[in-house]
Amino acid sequence: MTTTLQDCQALDAADPLRGLRAQFNIPAGTIYLDGNSLGVMPASAPARVAEVVTREWGTDLIQSWNKHGWFQMPGQVGDKIARLIGAGAGEVVATDSTSVNLFKVLSAALNMVQADAPNGQLTRKRIISERSNFPTDLYIAEALCKQHGMELVLLEPEEIASALTAEVAILMLTHVNYRTGAMHDMAAVTAAAHAEGILTVWDLAHSAGAVPVDLTGAKADFAVGCGYKYLNGGPGAPAFVWVNPLHANRFWQPLAGWWGHAAPFAFTPDYQPAPGITRYQCGTQPMISLAALECGVDTVLAAETLGGMAALRAKSLALTDLFIRLVEERCAGHGLGLATPREHAQRGSQVCLTRDEGAYAIVQALIARGVVGDFRAGDGGIHKDILRFGFTPLYIGFEDVWHSVEHLKQVLESGEWQRPEFNRKHAVT
Ligand SMILES: *Cc1c(COP(=O)(O)O)cnc(C)c1O
Repeated sequence: MTTTLQDCQALDAADPLRGLRAQFNIPAGTIYLDGNSLGVMPASAPARVAEVVTREWGTDLIQSWNKHGWFQMPGQVGDKIARLIGAGAGEVVATDSTSVNLFKVLSAALNMVQADAPNGQLTRKRIISERSNFPTDLYIAEALCKQHGMELVLLEPEEIASALTAEVAILMLTHVNYRTGAMHDMAAVTAAAHAEGILTVWDLAHSAGAVPVDLTGAKADFAVGCGYKYLNGGPGAPAFVWVNPLHANRFWQPLAGWWGHAAPFAFTPDYQPAPGITRYQCGTQPMISLAALECGVDTVLAAETLGGMAALRAKSLALTDLFIRLVEERCAGHGLGLATPREHAQRGSQVCLTRDEGAYAIVQALIARGVVGDFRAGDGGIHKDILRFGFTPLYIGFEDVWHSVEHLKQVLESGEWQRPEFNRKHAVT
């Protein structure tokens, strides 16, 4: 039995999460399949940001640090994010960028490895990651390796298990791969790493708000994640950082600014780290951006009374299953491949298609039709060019899936993607 438009409409009508879409004003004529890159603006954000600007900043000025709880904002938003990633209250701060937070946690992890080296002799001189990890993660790790005389080893996912040896200090992985949407089993991988004495650093950029995460249950060591993707926090939103409470007080991170100090307003000349995750803050935090991020996180927390992340996950899998099935039914014979695992346990909340030719132009032709996905370049080797479609279950419905595949079919059948305007590369793909 093939799936029809009416079937998709029936799925939307029966969807208990359908009402969550009203938290957003999605532009008319747009099917937004790029929430994995920049989430849709929450409808509450403009008024909240205006309030911070005109009342808190404009009127109350410096009193707002106390009067409007500005000083507590990184921890307050962090506590909300914690509920989505299996962390406890007081264990997460929303701060800085993912890249900067990675620098902090990798540095702290290296401190731990050095302190725990038998007889002070450092034998673990490798950081392991995936070759197709997001480049900024690799750049940050590479720079730290250079500074510490260590080696960054890049592997394919299937090579990781056998590479976990006594020479390895840290395993740094992105939970859901940004290119393929493939998801690691965080608990199993962490256990395998720990069995060899290796610390784990997880990047949750494509997980937080997209798939259930249980950092505590997985006994992970460090985690960072992004505020502007599935958390809908706005362009350049503060990222977040979590450190296992077992490690949090052992060291402080090298960006030891005054916002991570135990008593910033004592203005002492020496650094005394605040207890817990607060020491992962550096300098003064962006209040307007934190306010927008809080609106975004609240859109995800609104699912808590409807089954929470488990319900969002079930819908996300139903959406990506449907997309894969419809593409295979309706776009067969057009040279599309599937880069995303079919296995539910191995799939995040996106579907990535491959095509040897024209992937970029096909995405551009779809965007011109109002179906917004994105393109990620291959490496000319085993990693192919990718057409990437993110499915944010908060605001994407089953009928959206139907129409996006219908547009893809028309773009391929008409060959309209070959038009010159769709083949001109923009700075941001
Ligand atoms: C999006 C993303 C980032 C972004 O890092 P920024 O510092 O916010 O630019 C980092 N890592 C991964 C895995 C990502 O997907």
